[in-house]
Amino acid sequence: MKLKDETRNVYDYLTVLSLSGKNKRGIYMWLCECDCGNQKIVAGNLLRNGSTRSCGCLRKQRITETLKKEEVGNVYGDLTVLSLFGKNALGAYIWLCQCKCGNQKPILGTNLRAGNTKSCGCLRKRKSSVKVKKQEGIIYIKSSKVVKKK
Ligand SMILES: [Zn+2]
Ligand SMILES: [Zn+2]
Repeated sequence: MKLKDETRNVYDYLTVLSLSGKNKRGIYMWLCECDCGNQKIVAGNLLRNGSTRSCGCLRKQRITETLKKEEVGNVYGDLTVLSLFGKNALGAYIWLCQCKCGNQKPILGTNLRAGNTKSCGCLRKRKSSVKVKKQEGIIYIKSSKVVKKK
């Protein structure tokens, strides 16, 4: 089998780092680095035909729908995604988000995309305070009629 240099080629999650050797069938094996940080040796033909596209984490992630998606710069409600923060115990990506109120909070990507989390938590607080203000407003309008205000 002819050697096709795969170094620095990217196959989905895998970036080929270097040639690792040949397997028993004479197929070139490549040391690849996965987006998740794992390294794995993969046969060149499996890379090229698309059967191996991650260290194995991709399949896991597909199942749990926690596929890494580039979220940096995305805005979800009051949150702007700043950077990748890490992963939780299940391997789901957590993003560091900047809230409009100034707080920073790490939030699960799935929660962002599902719209479950739109602020650092202050939004809920603010919503309840808006309610209170509205009620106060009603009281104010009622009393202002009495004093002939607009
Ligand atoms: Zn991986
Ligand atoms: Zn906030």
